[in-house]
Amino acid sequence: AALPAGALAPAPAQHLFSDPAETEALRGSLLAWYDKCKRDLPWRTLVRGDSGRRGCLWVSEIMLQQTQVATVIDYYNRWMQKWPTLQALAQASLEEVNTLWAGLGYYSRGKRLQEAARKVVSELAGRMPRTAEDLQKLLPGVGRYTAGAIASISYGQATGVVDGNVIRVLCRLRCIGADSSSPAVIDWLWDMANALVDRSRPGDFNQALMELGATVCVPKAPLCGECPVKQHCRARRRKLFGKPTPVPDVEDCGVGGCPLCPPATEPWDSSLGVTNFPRKAAKKQPRAARTAVCVLERRGCHGAMEYLIVQRPSSGLLAGLWEFPSVLLAQSLQEEEQREVLADHLQAWTGQPVVPGALQLIGEVVHIFSHIHQTYVVYSLPLDGDMSLDPALSPSRWVTEEMFHASAVSTAMKKV
Ligand code: SF4
Repeated sequence: AALPAGALAPAPAQHLFSDPAETEALRGSLLAWYDKCKRDLPWRTLVRGDSGRRGCLWVSEIMLQQTQVATVIDYYNRWMQKWPTLQALAQASLEEVNTLWAGLGYYSRGKRLQEAARKVVSELAGRMPRTAEDLQKLLPGVGRYTAGAIASISYGQATGVVDGNVIRVLCRLRCIGADSSSPAVIDWLWDMANALVDRSRPGDFNQALMELGATVCVPKAPLCGECPVKQHCRARRRKLFGKPTPVPDVEDCGVGGCPLCPPATEPWDSSLGVTNFPRKAAKKQPRAARTAVCVLERRGCHGAMEYLIVQRPSSGLLAGLWEFPSVLLAQSLQEEEQREVLADHLQAWTGQPVVPGALQLIGEVVHIFSHIHQTYVVYSLPLDGDMSLDPALSPSRWVTEEMFHASAVSTAMKKV
């Protein structure tokens, strides 16, 4: 039968887990290692200790997308303290969610988490969906990975997960050197994860595989000597015993044509050892952007300095967060032109004349978002009196430095 578009041709045995006895042994070794060595993370304690609060795993999984465990722990603890149940979260305002999320990045995650909690409470009678398929279908912000993690860890469904750690481990275990970010290879890895997951302890198995990637099979210098599945690892075998024979046999692909081997133009590099795997096509460079920012400041009635912040639109980058008044600049403007653009912007917004020369250039701040290399050109403008703002434009408020740090502002604005 013809393969579906984008699917990979059948792969040679070297990339499969085709021996049931070996698969069973691998599962056993990995789970035994996990039972002994797993890190004590707050969401693990809660999942084990309180079956009524399974939403906590969901919160941790959403926070952990694109973010390191060490950063997440503190946010997670504060979040669970504030909203220990889905019912409590469903009643929170977006402003409260953004305030707690401030600094964690990818702000739409918090917003969607709260929308999903509302949906569970109002449309699903407070009952979380229990299979990966339903979780992904019914809850906003829950993708394939998060659905698999919740279904396997909280509800015991024998379904696999694929995240960055799992990709690395599977690619090394089975010498997969084709572009691991291509949809066809990702699909292949999902099939593999689903086939490999332990049937009786799927949640622990998935966590073990991710934990192995996070602590042993790490990107740059994996600790193969301490690895619980080293005897099943084909990248390690290749490192120890050299390249496969040029004539393909059941174990090795040999040269050319295999959809999962490294491309012929980038063959195995023996100086890299197991870190030959995984491989990714080169990343697109983030695009450069420049934004002029104005810190308007005045002396408040209690003598403390106050700063004006405005709220961003409720969709798009950093939706609903607060920032100093800002305007995107065309590239390659001279300093004087930047100053004029900013003065025009402030003038349109306040309805009062703003003289470009009154803006004081403070300096530049760079912040890297996932896809944008953003430079903020920072100005300040001290004000004597108040400034009345058109209420039809974005909401705005004056804050002290302390209030600023307690508001829903992005890390980029804190740098500013
Ligand atoms: Fe990763 Fe090394 Fe273990 Fe293979 S032996 S899975 S490369 S840590």
